[in-house]
Amino acid sequence: MTNVLIAGGAGFLGSHLLDRLLRRKDIARLIVIDNLWTGLRNNLAHINDPRVDIQQVDAERVDSVTTFDEIYHLASPASPPWYMAEPLRTVSANVLGTLRLLAALKPHGRFCFTSTSEVYGDPLVSPQPESYRGSVDCTGPRASYDESKRCAEAILFEARRTQGVRIKVVRLFNVFGPRTRPDDGRAVSNFITQGLRGSPITVYGAGSQTRSWGYVDDVVDALERFFWLEESEFPGPLNIGNDREVPVVEVAHYVRRHFPRSQIQHLDPVPQDPTNRRPDLTLARRHLPGWECKISYEEGVDRTIRWFRNTVSNLHSPKSL
Ligand code: UDP
Repeated sequence: MTNVLIAGGAGFLGSHLLDRLLRRKDIARLIVIDNLWTGLRNNLAHINDPRVDIQQVDAERVDSVTTFDEIYHLASPASPPWYMAEPLRTVSANVLGTLRLLAALKPHGRFCFTSTSEVYGDPLVSPQPESYRGSVDCTGPRASYDESKRCAEAILFEARRTQGVRIKVVRLFNVFGPRTRPDDGRAVSNFITQGLRGSPITVYGAGSQTRSWGYVDDVVDALERFFWLEESEFPGPLNIGNDREVPVVEVAHYVRRHFPRSQIQHLDPVPQDPTNRRPDLTLARRHLPGWECKISYEEGVDRTIRWFRNTVSNLHSPKSL
């Protein structure tokens, strides 16, 4: 039987991955750790499984007395305003968190890590294949996130090379969907919460910057397949996301169609905001045959609006969630 630890299990993505892990019958015990910095207890409110033990602890403070067959490290903020507000804590979660969690892995265990398309910085090639080394400013405003994810990748690939640790690393492009915090600050959830409040929908700069918007269910399908269903020892890094590239302003206009009271408001551009982002999915299609993002951003936005309407009752005090 398998003992599993998921770090960041109360987060947006972590809680969805936890739901998939709980479908597995071979798992005897599943420790969920989360410091509830960006994660929410509410994301785990539906969990009622005797195998699960939820602990409020930082990833970098996990003890290595108990060791695990599988470790999933998703404990990091992913939204720019959140990681920019506490950059050193972000570095700690990714770099020290990875080192500390590695120490809790059994000798033949498997370590799964969610890295980011931010490792490509403001990319000079499009779409971005995994072999692209990126265009990142190590002293820029996004460095705490970009560089700490890059460093975590380096730690894991060195652990593999020097100690034979089994690793699986994905690079996630933009993900959105249910269980995002209302005060998360990323584009889709911001536009929806603004629309629900009837306030202006804020587009930073002209909005011509592009992203590739992946709906959470499609992304978690890929994680499930890569992390445990396909049995190869391919370590990644593997791009995961939707390869339909859409300008931010187009998403804003799409959301606004649901909320005619809200106007689009253009604010100052964000310094060093990447101009474009689109995954090259050649490797993903090879390793996860049959996997595709099935849900368009339009359908994903519609579903996310329904979720926000049904679930987030008090948008004026999101901290109470
Ligand atoms: N963005 C925006 N208005 C918002 C939030 C984000 O125009 O209220 C823009 C942001 O500047 C970026 C894009 O939307 O160009 C995606 O931002 P997000 O924070 O979702 O993700 P990331 O920048 O990490 O890709």
